[in-house]
Amino acid sequence: MQKVVVELIRVSKKYGRRQLFADINQRIGPGECVGVTGPNGSGKSTLVKIIAGLLRPSAGIVQVRMDGKAVDAEKRMACFGLISPELLFYQAMTGYENLQFLVRARGLALSDEQLLTCLEAVGLSGRQQECVGTYSTGMRQRLKFAVLEALRPPVWLLDEPTSNLDEEGKKLVKRLVDNALAQQAAVVIATNDLEEVRDAGQKIALA
Ligand code: ADP
Ligand code: MG
Repeated sequence: MQKVVVELIRVSKKYGRRQLFADINQRIGPGECVGVTGPNGSGKSTLVKIIAGLLRPSAGIVQVRMDGKAVDAEKRMACFGLISPELLFYQAMTGYENLQFLVRARGLALSDEQLLTCLEAVGLSGRQQECVGTYSTGMRQRLKFAVLEALRPPVWLLDEPTSNLDEEGKKLVKRLVDNALAQQAAVVIATNDLEEVRDAGQKIALA
């Protein structure tokens, strides 16, 4: 896996006159996990979107370097895998078709067998031919992780990664994250569940 370093330099965000956060400085390197914590509305999702390049900060910058070289803004998304409650699947397509579509959209060619392995890794094998519209919220959350398993991005941006998951699903997420860290991915976990970021090496606490 390519090694990517994400660096937040004096990142600030305000909506109107309301300052959500200011001057966040944080380096997230290969094999490192940063937890973003704070109550509802504190700006966790906003910060994740800024790191992903989906939102602009009001001030400051997010630098991304791959193997020491700066990554252009337009190539940045290829480094990231994003899990977010705001991401939706195509309801009329099956779990398998959604996964295949999203993997192809990234320009990757995975075999049927490889895609099925990803679905199996999240406990969805056997359900891959059912339409996502009929999936439970927990199954949809698992499918998001199947996409990450397939993309194997060097940076994992996880916004509320265990929402809607049962105990077994939470353990699954922990295993997948630990595995990604062992493979030198850089991981950001935004959550209001402190337990979920207990092992994170560094934390950004929003208020
Ligand atoms: P969290 O993920 O910590 O619950 P969010 O990042 O989703 O918080 O939102 C932080 C705050 O920013 C909320 O109060 C929300 O209402 C506000 N907010 C989010 N998006 C916008 C927007 N486009 N315009 C104005 N305010 C926004
Ligand atoms: Mg949020």
